[in-house]
Amino acid sequence: MRYSALKILAEGLTGNRGWKPVWRTPEPKAEYDVVIVGGGGHGLATAYYLAKEFGITNVAVLEKGWLGSGNIGRNTTIIRSNYLLEGNQPFYELSLKLWEGLEQDFNYNAMVSQRGVLNLAHSDAQRDAYARRGNAMILSGADAVLLDRAGVRKLAPFLDFENGRFPIQGGLWQPRGGTVRHDAVAWGFARGADSRGVDIIQNCEVTGFTMQGGACLGVETSRGAIRAKQVAVCVAGSSSRVMGLAGMRLPIESHVLQAFVSEGLKPVIPGVITFGAGHFYISQSDKGGLVFGGDIDGYNTYAQRGNLPVVEDVCEGGMAVMPMIGRARLLRMWGGVMDMSMDGSPFIDRTGIEGLYFNGGWCYGGFKATPASGFCYAHLLATGGPHDTAAAYRLDRFRRGAPIDEKGAGAQPNLH
Ligand SMILES: Cc1cc2nc3c(=O)[nH]c(=O)nc-3n(C[C@H](O)[C@H](O)[C@H](O)COP(=O)(O)OP(=O)(O)OC[C@H]3O[C@@H](n4cnc5c(N)ncnc54)[C@H](O)[C@@H]3O)c2cc1C
Repeated sequence: MRYSALKILAEGLTGNRGWKPVWRTPEPKAEYDVVIVGGGGHGLATAYYLAKEFGITNVAVLEKGWLGSGNIGRNTTIIRSNYLLEGNQPFYELSLKLWEGLEQDFNYNAMVSQRGVLNLAHSDAQRDAYARRGNAMILSGADAVLLDRAGVRKLAPFLDFENGRFPIQGGLWQPRGGTVRHDAVAWGFARGADSRGVDIIQNCEVTGFTMQGGACLGVETSRGAIRAKQVAVCVAGSSSRVMGLAGMRLPIESHVLQAFVSEGLKPVIPGVITFGAGHFYISQSDKGGLVFGGDIDGYNTYAQRGNLPVVEDVCEGGMAVMPMIGRARLLRMWGGVMDMSMDGSPFIDRTGIEGLYFNGGWCYGGFKATPASGFCYAHLLATGGPHDTAAAYRLDRFRRGAPIDEKGAGAQPNLH
């Protein structure tokens, strides 16, 4: 069923009885060409692009819970391509370009809103670093505007320009960045994949891998064994647990990241704003809630809830940059489990086990990567080789001394 304004009108006039479920609920088959483990954004996008771009449709996506139960339904919805390093920038710019055509592509309203992303600079050194990053962005075909203090004030006059401790010196503005309705992304990719023949199987947990002679021949699940020519894992915060079932140890730690949303307010924030002297980022949802977050909690955990010290830290960051936030009432807060890699960059690669592939290590920036991650993972599965823009995301990069340390924080997953 194609969605259109005409369809809405026709259904409205006939009692809305013609709408169909957005995807089917099939029973798992005994065998597929590709089994994707994890029905988050990345798994569903991979299935979608496998079917759409490469004509591979004998595919199952196995999700242990329900679609949207993981980080795809828990993030703060920010998309951007404001990266510095050559291993990252073209990949994230590909992703932003895919976001730009996504709703027409999968015929689903994901509320892609390019309302801009502003990174605030609070020192001369930070402004210089943003100038360098902006130049790298422009070189890869992205957009970037370096703003002085007056330029920032024009965009966001409500910021605290009198703060002596964290003076606002300027900022890096990416007009094409913005926000996307996160769970609609899962639903849109699911619908697009399902309509091309992909089986999306919820409540189906992968509990082991079927191995023979050093090769992976399929998966064991809570709903029985399923054979597959290729098994593609993308389980985000559960990466180390799931790959542990195949005997692999990953350069990834799991940490909790919290997010917060206020009561609905009239429009007050023009786009996404990030504080440069601490870790705080904020946007406003279409329903009016201020959506904000900050640092991960800083300890290893698989729990989807965090602790109060980080709540305090996030609120302090908010008050330092825009004191008006102190008047808003908090509505909800939640946590998600992040797959933090040792250099802050992800992996999209085959493993040392024949037939087994891995996608993970997205840290807390994997939502914006969803389309490109799915596209590049599908490319790897279909062609056997990495996509040009994801060529640096190899599992052996630490052994080769080629980490992609975007933040320059070293091998400290809690700092990326
Ligand atoms: C609070 C918060 C804020 C964030 N904000 C942003 C942001 O603003 N911008 C941004 O770019 N990124 C953001 N992120 C990061 C982003 O959400 C993640 O990097 C990204 O969603 C991870 O990929 P995914 O969607 O595939 O993960 P998930 O949705 O977590 O998908 C993984 C799936 O695998 C399933 N699974 C796990 N184990 C098994 C198993 N054994 N068998 C079957 N299925 C299994 C899980 O149930 C889950 O559904 C944020 C994350 C959080 C938590």
